[in-house]
Amino acid sequence: MAAKRKILIAGNWKMNGLKKDARALASGLAKKMKKTERPAFEMLICPPFPLLGLAADAIRGSGVKLGAQDCHAIERGAHTGDTSAGLLANIGCKYVIVGHSERRTDHEETDKQVRAKAGAALNAGMGAIVCIGETWAERKAGKALVVNRKQLKGSLPSGANAKNTVIAYEPVWAIGTGQVATPAQAQEVHAAIRKALIKLIGADEAAKMRILYGGSMKPGNAAELLALPDVDGGLIGGASLNVVDFWGIAAAAS
Ligand code: PEP
Repeated sequence: MAAKRKILIAGNWKMNGLKKDARALASGLAKKMKKTERPAFEMLICPPFPLLGLAADAIRGSGVKLGAQDCHAIERGAHTGDTSAGLLANIGCKYVIVGHSERRTDHEETDKQVRAKAGAALNAGMGAIVCIGETWAERKAGKALVVNRKQLKGSLPSGANAKNTVIAYEPVWAIGTGQVATPAQAQEVHAAIRKALIKLIGADEAAKMRILYGGSMKPGNAAELLALPDVDGGLIGGASLNVVDFWGIAAAAS
């Protein structure tokens, strides 16, 4: 029997919003979530670091979960400007996004660093959302599957299992561009990721591990993506910044 995987709808707010925006967005989602009996999805918001505390207050008791967009790979110490996984867990984060393509580009993060950050998230008792994805040039060269397999192998932390790790397939060319992957493109890569996971973590865990799609997901295209056999949710940037769109995507999972 096919494993049942709960859809995860995760919002990556990136470097957007001020206090008032975060309060309105988080409390708007919390209000909707509270009114939803047995939601068919798990909902997560990942605000910028300084807004985490405020967002935690706004979603308390609603079932909406809190996550961060990055963490440092080691526990504590002289790392000015960085944030430890332990502190994130301490203020209520349940997940950390690691290896987002913007971090891989802006901060030249390697698979090895991403793997270490994911490991730090697990050690702190949080879930890691490990992002991978090919560029347009790599896809055009027929290398999409090879690139994703390589990033997956290099970025997956040791001890990863279906409870503590989520994979996010985010084609770089689809992030923030409005150019969404077709259902066939998304399913092909998701199925290849799941197959690769069998070798890495075993068939049982691979069948249970959630693989999110990210890249210009909107209420209008979410239903067909979320209905694909190996798509278990979305990592959403732009459309996670307003209640109507983000909730619209979640509703498409129901
Ligand atoms: C993202 O930042 O992870 C993302 C998928 O962004 P967008 O939804 O805006 O493409």
